[in-house]
Amino acid sequence: MKRVLIAVVALSFGMAPVAAQDNARLEAQKKEAVRAVDEMAKLAQEMVDSVFSFGELGMQEVGTSRYLTAQLEKFGFKVTRGQSGIPTAWVATWGSGKPVIALGSDIDGIPQSSQKPGVAYFDPIVEGAPGHGEGHNTGMPLNIVAAIAVKRIMERDKLPGTIMLWPGVAEELVASKAWFVRDGLFKDVDVNLFTHVGNNLDVGWGNQGGTGLVSVEYTFEGETAHSAGAPWRGRSALDAVELMNIGWNYRREHLRLSHRSHSVITNGGDQPNVVPRNASIWFYFREIDQPHIKELWEIGNKMADGAALMTNTKVTSRILGTAYPRHFNKVVAETMYKNIQTVGLPQWSEADQTLAKALQKELGNATQPGLAVKVSELGEPMDPERNIGGGSDDIGDISWNMPTVTLRFPSNIPGLPGHNWSSGIASATPIAHKGVVAGAKVQAMTILDLLTKPELVKGAWDYFNNVQRKEHTYVPFISKDTPAPTHLNKEILEKYRDQMRKFYYDPTKFPTYLDQLGIKYPTVKAPTSSQQQ
Ligand SMILES: [Zn+2]
Repeated sequence: MKRVLIAVVALSFGMAPVAAQDNARLEAQKKEAVRAVDEMAKLAQEMVDSVFSFGELGMQEVGTSRYLTAQLEKFGFKVTRGQSGIPTAWVATWGSGKPVIALGSDIDGIPQSSQKPGVAYFDPIVEGAPGHGEGHNTGMPLNIVAAIAVKRIMERDKLPGTIMLWPGVAEELVASKAWFVRDGLFKDVDVNLFTHVGNNLDVGWGNQGGTGLVSVEYTFEGETAHSAGAPWRGRSALDAVELMNIGWNYRREHLRLSHRSHSVITNGGDQPNVVPRNASIWFYFREIDQPHIKELWEIGNKMADGAALMTNTKVTSRILGTAYPRHFNKVVAETMYKNIQTVGLPQWSEADQTLAKALQKELGNATQPGLAVKVSELGEPMDPERNIGGGSDDIGDISWNMPTVTLRFPSNIPGLPGHNWSSGIASATPIAHKGVVAGAKVQAMTILDLLTKPELVKGAWDYFNNVQRKEHTYVPFISKDTPAPTHLNKEILEKYRDQMRKFYYDPTKFPTYLDQLGIKYPTVKAPTSSQQQ
């Protein structure tokens, strides 16, 4: 009895100093990472502004990917290109062995969202051109800065592990991540730390709301004829497209409240006097869980068959994108949240707040609170009964294949409609730059946690296998033969690229992109006379 007691005491005395030492070492490493990120603020600004100026749409992120991979190679990462047959997809790795920590973020822009940064009203750089109307120019610079900071510490302290960076290509089309999963890009990855622009520092676990989706294009084929001379000899594919759309819009009333669906006509025929032989309509079918997404897709297929029957045309369809509903890892989110609390929100300047409030006013928002000044709470899982739908992100596919979280960082202004020119206003200003620096600190600290505490990676997988996957197991919407839709957005970039190129950021000549464009920060509308009275 006595001997056992002595052994226990000895053991606890023997262990405690080691653990304390490890913790002190980790805390010191984290402080160094924070300092290193601060020292790279200029690099972060240059990358954020450069990617902003490219403004490329999904699948056409040619300049963006060339630029980002060149940065990574310069800092010693090994890059392979053309992942999943997507020319703009790549993966960059450094280090060796376990754990493998992957860092991802989206890189594509939004159609028609060209916008001068720092100007609190609609003012495009190139009228009609795409731009960063979501702020996807910020996430990969954040990951690169975090990865470089951690790499230096790993080298010096000989920490084992691998850092891997990968881009969310064509996130706005949800057209790459399910393909990356299918093709085994993440098969050795232990934890995926995804990051996406937001307007606060936050992270959550479980189902955080929103939807998943399938993106499907239906193409009808009929027969041409002279629209006036012999219309009875034609079979109109456009009629089929219109009937399918009308059918869907009638059915909409009888779909679940959590569903979202929308379409664009991608081919409406050639000219009025020729009965359209081919026509296409492209749908996004969104729902909050996999079975209901599948159900919507099946309704769409039936409706397409019905439209083909009515018009005596033939129909084929093709999946162009897919996003699984998201589920994030509890252990990783809780670990990251502690780092969020340590880092806190950036110090906003008077100019930053003036821009934010002026934009909120310009958009007609009821209140103009400006930028976030209080850190978000840790996100708790949403009750599916209360999930009223919303957007999707194909990070969902990854989140059902390994422990994953999404870090949101404050590089944008609260209260914007999204997918709009207004979301580009902050994206190459001090707001974006400071948000990226804050986010990179959180990301770097969380990587260090995962590299040095094996029990966290084990705990993350325990949650993934024994809690998350008890609820549902991943059933991908794409098959092994589904090709990635690499043709998308080609024509838009062909139309605008030459005009946009004139405005690419040159950091060797200008300290910031605002300087290059000659924009006074912030540029806001003068008060109206009614306000002066
Ligand atoms: Zn996004």
